[in-house]
Amino acid sequence: MTIDKGKERYNGKNIAVLGLAKSGAAVARVLKACGANVLVNDMKPRSECPAAEELEREGIRVICGEHPANLPDETIDMVVKNPGIPYTSPPVQRALALGIPVVTEVEIAYHLSDAPIIGITGSNGKTTTTTLLGRIFEEGNRSPVVAGNIGTPLSEQAVCVQAGQVLIAELSSFQLKGTQDFHPSIACLLNVYDAHLDYHKTKEDYVYSKSRLFANQGAEDVAVLNYDNAICRGLEPSIRSTVLWFSSAGEVEQGSYIENGDVVFRRPQSGPLSERLADAAPVEKIIAVDDVALPGLHNLENVLAAVCMARAAGVAPDTIRSVLATFAGVEHRLEFVADVDGVKYYNDSKATNPEASSRAIMSFTAPIVLIAGGLDRGIDFKELVPLLKKHVKAMITYGQTAEKLLARGQEAGINNCKRVDTVTDAVAEAHLMAQSGDIVLLSPACASWDMYTSFEERGSMFKQSVHKLKTSR
Ligand code: ADP
Repeated sequence: MTIDKGKERYNGKNIAVLGLAKSGAAVARVLKACGANVLVNDMKPRSECPAAEELEREGIRVICGEHPANLPDETIDMVVKNPGIPYTSPPVQRALALGIPVVTEVEIAYHLSDAPIIGITGSNGKTTTTTLLGRIFEEGNRSPVVAGNIGTPLSEQAVCVQAGQVLIAELSSFQLKGTQDFHPSIACLLNVYDAHLDYHKTKEDYVYSKSRLFANQGAEDVAVLNYDNAICRGLEPSIRSTVLWFSSAGEVEQGSYIENGDVVFRRPQSGPLSERLADAAPVEKIIAVDDVALPGLHNLENVLAAVCMARAAGVAPDTIRSVLATFAGVEHRLEFVADVDGVKYYNDSKATNPEASSRAIMSFTAPIVLIAGGLDRGIDFKELVPLLKKHVKAMITYGQTAEKLLARGQEAGINNCKRVDTVTDAVAEAHLMAQSGDIVLLSPACASWDMYTSFEERGSMFKQSVHKLKTSR
């Protein structure tokens, strides 16, 4: 029983939970149920911590509006911090100085889960790949529970899953940085690009955080990595599990790749996974690339990664094929919205960095009217210039980065560049600029928080405005 396992580990322990967001509240409850004395602390005023009162009613101490100067003190056995709280934050610094372990909620989830964990991380493509793999496992009757960075806190699910199930976890670098024993049986790193440098400060720290995913794996486990990404390739010497590569550019020794227009899987020739897949052909055709429902080369990479994970878990090729032929993607990720007067509108609001937007732009051959802009994280957007030159006929920018992006558009020789105030205004402008056969693409290359509460809100505003165009014709 999961709770018994938790009691053995956490009963009577004094644990401080930093950050009272969804995952903080979930882990506080789980730890309390395991018999720990839990204190939750958040800098936000009480009025902005809706869960505070309920937690108190359940017997959990909550301090809002400040970090008490003596938190944590020597009596605290462990600090569980919200992944977004930086390591420079005073209570985290204090804990580290006192030698108190500082972990994130996924570490607790690992210690509680009776089911094996499949962990998926990467700069881009996590949600799409995690959702896709969840569907494949459902189709194969493998009782998956999808959780983590994708929505439901991992610890909340970890206490419910049973031995016959599998926990499929989307994991961020922030979450992984705070792990010690976390040990997924299958671990996938999709790619590593320059992202989140505001939090990690150096690329080394970012790569180190991602590589925590493999740190506790052994020979029985499987690591799935992108062969086309130099940073992923560079991690191989430090990995002790069986490595499966995926590549959209060429053949790999073991893993998935494209051969004569088909997605294929080549199993390892030796080792524990080779024995587990002994009945399979050395190279199996999974599906023709043309039959994959997800659009874009970047999604093909996500598909190849999912194929490796599904085959490593023994899901049959037919099962994988039937899901790949129908799974069309997740909302706000290169999502087709509508055709208005022969112009196709796509919502890619989740593209919060230039790499993600590059992939979206590359997915189309028709001329693009690009809508981009948002929170300024100090990125210069230089890498977009050649792509803008090749694919984009007009550009509309908004938000903190509007001027910077406009300058890149002009550098790319785009004559039709305009700055507007909101995504809604951008849709009206795009409607005037686009001609039948064109694509209007919202792919911001920036986070949304300068103007919107989330990428979901930004994408929904875009979709609403597009649907209004349709009805106002
Ligand atoms: P994440 O959860 O890592 O943010 P998503 O699946 O939500 O990833 O996709 C976010 C955006 O990243 C998408 O809108 C798309 O533009 C881009 N993207 C998705 N998969 C990949 C990939 N494998 N490589 C590069 N970019 C990708």
